[in-house]
Amino acid sequence: TEAAYPMPPSPGGESSLRIVWIYPDLLSTYGDRGNMLILARRAYLRGMPVETIEVRSDQPLPISADIYLLGGGEDGPQALGAQRLIADGGLRRAAQQGSVVFGVCAGYQLLGGSFFAKGAKCAGLDLLDLHSDRGPSRAVGELAGAIDPRLGLPPLSGFENHGGRTHLGSGVSPLARVSTGIGNDGATEGAWRGKLLGTYSHGPALARNPALADLLLRWATGAHQLPPLDETWSDRLRAERTAALAATRQ
Ligand code: GLN
Repeated sequence: TEAAYPMPPSPGGESSLRIVWIYPDLLSTYGDRGNMLILARRAYLRGMPVETIEVRSDQPLPISADIYLLGGGEDGPQALGAQRLIADGGLRRAAQQGSVVFGVCAGYQLLGGSFFAKGAKCAGLDLLDLHSDRGPSRAVGELAGAIDPRLGLPPLSGFENHGGRTHLGSGVSPLARVSTGIGNDGATEGAWRGKLLGTYSHGPALARNPALADLLLRWATGAHQLPPLDETWSDRLRAERTAALAATRQ
């Protein structure tokens, strides 16, 4: 893996923050590697040793990692990914042991009880109390909204492209209230419970929402606060997207 920023070689070891990117061969439709790079980079800049682990769908998942990332995918790879994750069983055990799980789009849907792919109902991992069906149209475009105030984050900014609609049960909280776009159902977007969090925001999501990346890092490390970083580029990206949204509304 070639990182876009200088990062030390990944030595691993007991004290490293271990980040697993699940099934890059199936679930990586929108540059999902970026979410792993952002987390590793932001940890590294805080002086944390980081180990990034890419686990292909024909490999067993390690269960002792700190953060697990699931990306977006077309229906076929999404259904296959869910089958293999259920058969593997490692993600469920990792989640039960308190690991952080971050799912994007297809990776978010398959954390729920069920979802639809190519017209067929598929079993999900049932780690989040939600299920997905199909909407009247594809949700494509900017996605924004105010995040659950308990998470203490600035508004979500992202891009969505999905056919599914997601319905939340009482065991999860919406990640955000939608102000632009569709998200789950036009009203809410994403979901979270404990240290599990899912979103329809691609982008990659963590490049556009660095505070969300830091939330995952805080959940993983137990830190209440992380030293601030220079956010010039993500602030500019956010300002550009906000201005573009305002322009399309005029
Ligand atoms: N296949 C899913 C859907 O269309 C997820 C798509 C995605 O990950 N972008 O709803």
